[in-house]
Amino acid sequence: MTAPRTGIVLGGSWSGMLAAHVLARHLESVTVVERDTLPGGPEHRRGTPQARHGHILWSGGARIVDELLPGMSERLLAAGARRINFHQDLVTLTSHGWQHRFPPRQYGLMCTRPLLDWTVRREILAGGRITVRDRTEALELCGGSGRVTGVRVRGIDSGARELLEADLVVDAAGRGSRLRHWLADLGLPAVEEDVVDVGMAYASRMYRAPEGATAAFPAVNIAADHRTGEPGRFGAVYPQENGQWIVTLSCTRGGPLPTREEDYLPFARSLRDPLVAELLARAEPLTPISASRLGINRRLYPERLEQWPDGLVVLGDALAVFNPIYGHGMSSAARAAAALDEHLAQPFGPGAARRTQRAIGERVDDPWIMAASKDIAFVNCRNRAGDPRLTGGATARQHFSDLVAERSIRSPAVCDVVTDVMSMTAPQSELGTPGFMALVGKDPMRPELTGPPLSPQELALVDLESRGAVGAR
Ligand SMILES: Cc1cc2nc3c(=O)[nH]c(=O)nc-3n(C[C@H](O)[C@H](O)[C@H](O)COP(=O)(O)OP(=O)(O)OC[C@H]3O[C@@H](n4cnc5c(N)ncnc54)[C@H](O)[C@@H]3O)c2cc1C
Repeated sequence: MTAPRTGIVLGGSWSGMLAAHVLARHLESVTVVERDTLPGGPEHRRGTPQARHGHILWSGGARIVDELLPGMSERLLAAGARRINFHQDLVTLTSHGWQHRFPPRQYGLMCTRPLLDWTVRREILAGGRITVRDRTEALELCGGSGRVTGVRVRGIDSGARELLEADLVVDAAGRGSRLRHWLADLGLPAVEEDVVDVGMAYASRMYRAPEGATAAFPAVNIAADHRTGEPGRFGAVYPQENGQWIVTLSCTRGGPLPTREEDYLPFARSLRDPLVAELLARAEPLTPISASRLGINRRLYPERLEQWPDGLVVLGDALAVFNPIYGHGMSSAARAAAALDEHLAQPFGPGAARRTQRAIGERVDDPWIMAASKDIAFVNCRNRAGDPRLTGGATARQHFSDLVAERSIRSPAVCDVVTDVMSMTAPQSELGTPGFMALVGKDPMRPELTGPPLSPQELALVDLESRGAVGAR
């Protein structure tokens, strides 16, 4: 085969739509196979339960989306998304203390996942070059160990089975992907897998925010301190479209996930600072509490197989999932879609799928190591990873990471580099350069903050003047 002409994408969510868009730039025909009905508006659906929890699209991912779909961020903002500039628009209690609100460096987009998914999907499908086969389930890959030639599908309503042939199949079926079984069925050896499972669980709820607070009040984040030896407890209040807040409370394994109404506010009060609880008490709940226990880090290494079939690529959560607390899943998938785009722009003959897969593997490495190396510091974390960075020398790395975290909240120059990395704008290796080491050692630190850095105007917006101005130690 020379250049692929036909493509099939398994899964029509975030990764699947970006992958389909990329395929449509290079291939003659593209079909998305999706088990659910894709809604005609910003609505929830069964296949994406994580959409009921707070999401941020970091600037590193947003810029890629804007390159693939020019003007997308503007459209999201026009639809009600909020641009959160870091650290101006975020009030956060990190593991090491309150973060100073340094001048903006990077940003993140915040809105509900249904709005984000629908806005992106509508734009991608408006091109008219992509066929969606919804209410259709992918059952298995067809072909052999050397080449995938298509996928066998089943209509959810009719039960009818069908073979869809394609030159290139992209698995974007999320964390439920059956790729490992499908590859075994094709006669390939087992794909290596690393798992770091801190048992993160989430309980989220939508609220009507006090008047004006979604536009002019910062996002709020209260993190756990991994050094206490206790299960971690977290809380976040993110502004969303339509004057709403999404509140996400979460805990690591052994923590009491507040899934019942009567436990929600008490859990928020039990965080290291009561700010989230104080905000909840001033907002009107709009939905029931949605719970999820999807906070695991899991990574497949298809690039390590000696043989990888032509005509197959895997990306998004089907390839790697990260503890959502770091907010890297969608940006990582956007990086993978960009890698796919770059490789399809070159001659895509035998071996090209393998090269593409390797490039995608490189692009998920930063979010993987960022999340997994932080999570192993928590009590009750189950580390079943062979990645040497997560075993030997992990304690020394944790000490360095703690030192950086401590500096980053009070030193603007250190914070800039950390924010570039966290937003997936700069590589993780920036944190290991001699220049950065020197910065950590000598950059002057601002005084330690003794409470949330909120202005009198912000406190007035949420009727919290009694908290008063925050001093510095
Ligand atoms: C609680 C939580 C909070 C998160 N917060 C953030 C955040 O703040 N920022 C961020 O960037 N990321 C976040 N994430 C991660 C983010 O949600 C995922 O990385 C992202 O949705 C991955 O998209 P995907 O398309 O790969 O997979 P999914 O969104 O899971 O989509 C998979 C799709 O495949 C379909 N499908 C599955 N199997 C089949 C089949 N056999 N046949 C046909 N279709 C199939 C499903 O119906 C679904 O539509 C969070 C995740 C969770 C769980």
